[in-house]
Amino acid sequence: MDYIALEDAHTSGFYRKHPIVLVKGEGAKVWDAEGREYIDCTSGHGVANVGHANPYVAEAIARQASRLITCSELFYNDVRAELLATLARITPPGLKRAFLCNSGTEAVEGALKIARLVTGRKKFVAAMRSFHGRTFGSLSATWRKEYREPYEPLVPGFSFVPFNNLEAMDKAVDHETAGVILEVVQGEGGVIPGKGEYLRGVQEICRQKGALFILDEVQTGFGRTGKMFACEHYGLEPDLMCLAKGFGGGVPFGAVMIHEKFGEMPKRLHGSTFGGNPLACAAALAAIRYLEENDLPRRAAELGEYFLGRLRQLESNLVREVRGLGLMVGIELKKEASPYIEALAEEGVLALSAGPTVIRFLPPLVISREELDKVVEAVEKVLP
Ligand SMILES: *Cc1c(COP(=O)(O)O)cnc(C)c1O
Repeated sequence: MDYIALEDAHTSGFYRKHPIVLVKGEGAKVWDAEGREYIDCTSGHGVANVGHANPYVAEAIARQASRLITCSELFYNDVRAELLATLARITPPGLKRAFLCNSGTEAVEGALKIARLVTGRKKFVAAMRSFHGRTFGSLSATWRKEYREPYEPLVPGFSFVPFNNLEAMDKAVDHETAGVILEVVQGEGGVIPGKGEYLRGVQEICRQKGALFILDEVQTGFGRTGKMFACEHYGLEPDLMCLAKGFGGGVPFGAVMIHEKFGEMPKRLHGSTFGGNPLACAAALAAIRYLEENDLPRRAAELGEYFLGRLRQLESNLVREVRGLGLMVGIELKKEASPYIEALAEEGVLALSAGPTVIRFLPPLVISREELDKVVEAVEKVLP
């Protein structure tokens, strides 16, 4: 069967795809339809933190699937209750409530709506090179012109300031600002870590001016950067925090964590049919337990440092900078990255781009040192 032709004939066409048909995964490895093996440093866009086909997650899904798959928030549910309590335990202090949804963009939409609701203000400040999603609200907080312009007019009230520049942020936030939304490490924008001093400063500005401090940890959450959540590196205490990607162990899931100081949200002013469904909750509970029991955040910290160190030793004239946090790593080139990402796939290593010139690595946190060595060898081979 020619799956590539079949997909090409009937897919939307929005995606640029590698001509590889992936049919199976295990840990940090995936296989194509012809049985060729790859080391997956995409994790399906930073989703498979606990590894592909994680047996612990697979079992939890199977068990829940034969018990109860759907149960809307018209009713209470055992697994959902347990997950909500777990989220309140593992997220930063004060984040005791959650709105559950199904994706990153929905988490951001939820956060923006909640910020307007609890402040009664309308305006938002985001960072240049930010990425917060593709629906109208989150797109309005997203920097890249190519993503935005075809869909204008977007939601009014958004402004953008340079990332890691506290002075610009101080000028942009005023007493009409409902919230400031930032990634702790900018992902799509090029793997750009926020500085601790900057992020703490932004939090302080928000507190002073009554704007909500909103962290988008959709990509950086669930162990990716070497802590369960990246904001822990800097002791940040966001008012709202957006989660998705690695949350459900591969199953679509998202959440807005809400600070307890806001109390309960008003009835019926937001909602989701699938949000908080028991199947996703069971998968997320299993994924979180697996992350904790195997101390994967610490593993990401150690392996990330090793990986960054080895990449920084590469002697290629093409490399402008190697940067990252934990197992969220980018190589900025002096040239367009996509031909090198294709060359890496030829060598059996799947990687992502992050903007035009950055090769991004988001491997499953269960990746072995030997597999990372193979990734470094492949990078060495393709970067002259
Ligand atoms: C991927 C991503 C999103 C959007 O998530 P989707 O699930 O694709 O809607 C939002 N914010 C950040 C930081 C992301 O990396």
